[in-house]
Amino acid sequence: ATDLCSPLAVLGHDVQVPLVSGEKVGYAALDYAASSPALQRVWDDVAAYAPYYGSVHRGAGYLSQLSTDLFEQSRRTVEEFLDLREDDQVVFTRATTDSLNLLAGALPAGTRVFAFETEHHASLLPWRREGLTVGYLRAPRSHAEAVARLAEALAEAPEGPKLFCVTGASNVTGELWPVAELTETAHRYGARVVLDAAQLAPHHRVSVRELGVDWIAFSGHKLYAPFGAGVLAGRSDWLDAAEPYLAGGGASRTVAREADGSVAVEWQTGPARHEAGSPNVIGAYAVASACRALTEAGFDALEAREQRLIARLTAGLAEIPEVRVLSLFGEEAARVGVLSFVVQGWNSSHFSAALSAEYGIGVRDGLFCAHPLVRTLLGGEDATPSECGAPEPSLPGERSLNAIRVSFGAGTPDEHLDRFLTAV
Ligand code: PMP
Repeated sequence: ATDLCSPLAVLGHDVQVPLVSGEKVGYAALDYAASSPALQRVWDDVAAYAPYYGSVHRGAGYLSQLSTDLFEQSRRTVEEFLDLREDDQVVFTRATTDSLNLLAGALPAGTRVFAFETEHHASLLPWRREGLTVGYLRAPRSHAEAVARLAEALAEAPEGPKLFCVTGASNVTGELWPVAELTETAHRYGARVVLDAAQLAPHHRVSVRELGVDWIAFSGHKLYAPFGAGVLAGRSDWLDAAEPYLAGGGASRTVAREADGSVAVEWQTGPARHEAGSPNVIGAYAVASACRALTEAGFDALEAREQRLIARLTAGLAEIPEVRVLSLFGEEAARVGVLSFVVQGWNSSHFSAALSAEYGIGVRDGLFCAHPLVRTLLGGEDATPSECGAPEPSLPGERSLNAIRVSFGAGTPDEHLDRFLTAV
């Protein structure tokens, strides 16, 4: 179904959807930024393993040992995929939101967290908790401004632990952020860095070692694996010193009754400390399978193909005068296969509904869980608050209060983008 090599063939290309005309067409999935289709390879790997799975870590039986091996091998695969440093660790989580909340709970008391207000809510909100102070930085309009704004904020910050959270690629504009430069700046002021790679990892090779970030988070369901499994990876010291994310079996090394009747707990160190309960072994295995497939296909090939599709898409949209593509950094920043736009005279929700009903195209409309960013891009701080993706009322001709997002990746045939451009 794709013109890429087989490791990246995706499921779902033969799904037929009904149109208002009564016809049926193949579904054009152009909402990869929300969740990508799963790879056929991932499905096959999971199906091959499913009859053999057992509980991990404590089972004495053969299948428990096999599952433990596969679970721990999956961790190694993710370590290699992210090019981690020697003493980094991989914690399996549910997704990026879960990973960043885990990290928020593991920060030393008094940590000052810095994030641009343009972040996805998953990177913006987990830090608002007792014991932490959050400094939100105003939206920058260039990479240099982003670096300068961070430096300025950190220079004024008092002594003490600091964390800077940044996205690698925007889920709204698809634009890349200058992660290496921001990290270098943060480190110069003694701040650690966590990279939200939810949108970056599916499109680009990511090397934690080269970028220098301290932690990284991503979601399996945006990386061609199913829902329910994600990753937080990076420095062990703060994670090993923190209260476990979940208290329970697996996270505890020993639990003993004390003479006074209380219960004393000695917690594990390493990933087990934050993976209490029976872990999502199948999910971890699926994520590792996707990592292997992406590595095998090669990011050079993936990126070259994607850049060709992005050029086609942006050139096509540029020919339609009513379309305004949203951008924070203008010409300066390259983008991954994610792009948001508004159409003059159209309500974005109606527009997206028409793409679905008349053309079988699945995009997304709304504020994309990045309300401050989308409001900045639409030029109105006064836009009505909305839940994630909920439609906003607006009349044709009025300033848009929300936008339309088209996003794609491995498995997107040229025909889907051509159909999309024709429809627009
Ligand atoms: N960060 C970014 C940049 C995202 O695009 C998303 C998902 N839209 C998230 C974090 C949250 O990911 P998840 O919903 O998988 O937790």
